Amino acid sequence: MDILCIPVKSIYYCHKFRERKISYEIFFVFDILIFMVQFQEFLKEPKIAYFSLEVGILNDMPTYSGGLGVLAGDTIRSSADLKLPFIAVTLLSRKGFFNQDIDENGRQIESPVSWEPSRFMTLLSEKVKVKIEGRDVYVQAWLYIVDSLTGGKVPIFFLDTDIPENTPADREITSHLYGGDNRYRLKQEIVLGIGGVRMLNALGFQIKKYHMNEGHASFLILELLLEFKKDIESVWDERFIWDVERVKDLCVFTTHTPIEAGHDKFPYDLIRDVMGELIPFDILKELAGRDNLNMTLLALNLSKYVNGVAKKHGEVSKNLFPGYEIHAITNGVHSYTWTCESLARVYDKYIPGWANEPELFVRIGKIPDEELWGAHREAKKRLFDYVKESTGVEMNPEILTIGFARRATAYKRADLLFSDIDRLKKIAKAGGLQIIYAGKSHPNDHPGKELIKRIHSYIKDLKGTIDIVYLKNYNMDIALKLVSGVDVWLNTPLRPREASGTSGMKAAHNGVINFSVLDGWWIEGHIEDFTGWSIGPMPSEVTLTENLDTKDANDLYTKLEKIIIPMFYNERHTWVRMMQNAIGKNAYYFNSHRMMRRYVTEAYIR
Ligand SMILES: *Cc1c(COP(=O)(O)O)cnc(C)c1O
Repeated sequence: MDILCIPVKSIYYCHKFRERKISYEIFFVFDILIFMVQFQEFLKEPKIAYFSLEVGILNDMPTYSGGLGVLAGDTIRSSADLKLPFIAVTLLSRKGFFNQDIDENGRQIESPVSWEPSRFMTLLSEKVKVKIEGRDVYVQAWLYIVDSLTGGKVPIFFLDTDIPENTPADREITSHLYGGDNRYRLKQEIVLGIGGVRMLNALGFQIKKYHMNEGHASFLILELLLEFKKDIESVWDERFIWDVERVKDLCVFTTHTPIEAGHDKFPYDLIRDVMGELIPFDILKELAGRDNLNMTLLALNLSKYVNGVAKKHGEVSKNLFPGYEIHAITNGVHSYTWTCESLARVYDKYIPGWANEPELFVRIGKIPDEELWGAHREAKKRLFDYVKESTGVEMNPEILTIGFARRATAYKRADLLFSDIDRLKKIAKAGGLQIIYAGKSHPNDHPGKELIKRIHSYIKDLKGTIDIVYLKNYNMDIALKLVSGVDVWLNTPLRPREASGTSGMKAAHNGVINFSVLDGWWIEGHIEDFTGWSIGPMPSEVTLTENLDTKDANDLYTKLEKIIIPMFYNERHTWVRMMQNAIGKNAYYFNSHRMMRRYVTEAYIR
């Protein structure tokens, strides 16, 4: 790799050096040298290259929208802790997902996020080109290095088209996460898949596996097919020049969406127009679908290892794509990131080493009840301080508090809790109940936005009976406060649409008990009255049959009234026992260290 651009980061360091009276020039050369030596280290051994359209790495870097991006961040953090030979590629998302404001009628108001990548990352001087609509579009990369306390390091390359060489419209390709129309998304995916592979080649990496986190990255397959095209003069069948088997050996694909409509598809006319005929369409159609280019199908056909993100999701995916071998590696969360300060302090005291060895949660029983409860109370107070500061509502720490926060979209049924308002009011009378909501809706998801409005109208209706707040602009910081500061974590998805879900795993890391529909990870983590509580029946469906809202709501109310509220107010000892079980059984298993070890043994080294 050649000389680096002047990173603003080094200018920042410069200020520090100036204070120490070291000249700028000496410092600057020094900085670049150190940087290049460090970079050479990365090139020493072949890497697993992880491609994801979104990555949630820092709260202040709005390069993620929700679960998928946070999972990518946790994947990277655990890889760094475990010192895996791992690198990641994503888009810069210069204007983020969006900032969420909500007016008094519950209407979501969106505005672009502005942030300065140079505050966090180093701009590399390499540029690669991709063809879009017949034009050369230049792509550059920002480098962020995830530095683990164990000494492991994982570089992340954030691809960026905001370069003077590009047309004004092309400069916007990497601006809006999940913004724009299908054509815009196609351009983003060309930059990610094709531009990403070219960038890694230009930087000098050797790659032993390409891991596609969701179908957004599937175009990397086309670039690999082109790269490994056999040099044969004339063959009787043109197919033989495409080394499908070699590409397949290199690719790993994780699917995340159990809903058919959730898979990216592009009409071939659009492909012709935007991407051109990179490889002949008759061959492409065999690999990616006759009618549309289906990104999931492309990845399924050219990956040696394919997995869903929970056992149930693996089955559902097999049903969605019959004939494919689809494995399951259940998601996990990064234990250290998703444990709040007060809980981390008691873990450090009684089970030191837990952060890099979450299996140590098996010894959770060593923590005295009062200390575990005390740490939880501290987290609750911290959350309530935030609630007061951001909404003006003063919540009572003695009262049972339920949390519900995730993307606001119809299948998550955030309003199931309000199916029968009178019954809810009656239940809340015994002891009391408080509820905290948060979540963004995609700007084009009208049912999702309606959901936010409806919840706001319930908040008004129930004023004086049940304190309910809706926190704006859900992000990773708010998520950590919420999953650690409430008493019960509620999830009510429409089965089997929740591929995995991860926020419940975060709650478990903080001794917050899950109360959830049996879908995704909770089917595996749930032991009734032991790790938490279920809502509705054991799932049997592998297709998207409709569940009965009323049946689920009825179960929710009954358990809240007969089991959860009485236990919280009258049987503190049993409650704390369940908190321990959530940690000792759920956090013990549903962490991204375990998940990454499974990816290594099942997907990467085979
Ligand atoms: C963990 C997380 C999610 C995912 O929540 P689910 O309940 O798994 O859908 C979404 N957004 C943020 C900010 C998160 O931290």
